[in-house]
Amino acid sequence: MLRTVRGAAEFGVATGRVEPTVDLAVSQVRKQKVIDGMVKGLGSLLAGRDVTVYDGTGRLGVDHVVTVDGPDGPVVVAADHVVLATGSTPRTIPGFEVDGSLVVTSDELLSITEVPDRVAVIGGGAIGCEFASMLADYGSAVTLLEAAAEILPGCDIDVAKTVRRSFRRRRIDVHSGVPVHGHDPSDAATTVRFGDDSTVEVDLVVVAVGRRPRGDSAGLVGTRVVVDERGFIQVDDRLRTGEPGVYAVGRLAARPHPPPASHHSHSRPLPPPCVRVSPPPPAATPQARPMVAGAPTCFWVSPHPSAATLNLGRWWQVLLRASG
Ligand SMILES: Cc1cc2nc3c(=O)[nH]c(=O)nc-3n(C[C@H](O)[C@H](O)[C@H](O)COP(=O)(O)OP(=O)(O)OC[C@H]3O[C@@H](n4cnc5c(N)ncnc54)[C@H](O)[C@@H]3O)c2cc1C
Repeated sequence: MLRTVRGAAEFGVATGRVEPTVDLAVSQVRKQKVIDGMVKGLGSLLAGRDVTVYDGTGRLGVDHVVTVDGPDGPVVVAADHVVLATGSTPRTIPGFEVDGSLVVTSDELLSITEVPDRVAVIGGGAIGCEFASMLADYGSAVTLLEAAAEILPGCDIDVAKTVRRSFRRRRIDVHSGVPVHGHDPSDAATTVRFGDDSTVEVDLVVVAVGRRPRGDSAGLVGTRVVVDERGFIQVDDRLRTGEPGVYAVGRLAARPHPPPASHHSHSRPLPPPCVRVSPPPPAATPQARPMVAGAPTCFWVSPHPSAATLNLGRWWQVLLRASG
């Protein structure tokens, strides 16, 4: 929205000579209104389909029995089939305890009501880049710190370079190949230590180093559901867990590895879509073609359909912002 207003003159829409400003407190009120509306709408849709919703934390036990700890005490529900969809939670790193004011993850960042003057974003993946971009739009001085050799790890190197160039033009200070070592708070600011003896003083640290699947949050005691050491629930290609009649979906589920799509192989169960700036190889499946109407034909995505459908929106945002 802010960018649109800033660029309005290009379309002949005069907004005066005053630079537009952001009042995040107002934005948050609107955001909450939109969320409340969507929650209400979804609630009506579910009610219309005879879905009973229990508010609370569910725990799956033996024999498909789910205990929901809710505001009015526990409720016990039994079902022939159970779908686990407990999602993921932001990862943090030692030395950067999230306090919601000086150190935040993407969860808390979405609720800030003031634009910080100086921000360090730790992690140059899709979420880190997205927030670095947003905060730079707001007017923050942004430093982006990525431990891998290039930002957007897992993405085609040409795309990563395009985003980096765009960030440079927008004065986002990008450092890659730099692990962070810790930070030293003083008053309302903190100094982040990274790389070889480098530091940056900021008013907010955004930790965006990935997300951990919440495989362990649904009880599962006495079941044959397997949670691996990374928190993923192991499923087969039909999303079946080790417990008959219990399935896992979404960010939580670790499907068997797809066959390698090309010369790139991935070690993660759900690889990020490889957005490439080269023509697809002959082996590319129809799903590998662009899935967005009007998308530039030079972009294509991994033939791994679930990865593509899950994350394409986000990657397009990164790409479109990069070229903006
Ligand atoms: C900052 C950010 C930006 C993103 N942008 C995009 C994007 O642009 N496009 C895109 O495609 N994807 C995007 N994603 C990814 C997308 O949000 C996830 O892929 C998606 O939300 C995963 O859905 P899910 O249902 O698996 O998990 P979630 O959306 O995490 O839902 C899990 C739910 O389960 C609840 N829960 C957990 N444990 C229990 C329990 N024991 N009992 C009851 N409830 C429980 C949680 O409270 C949560 O509400 C983004 C993610 C982040 C963090």
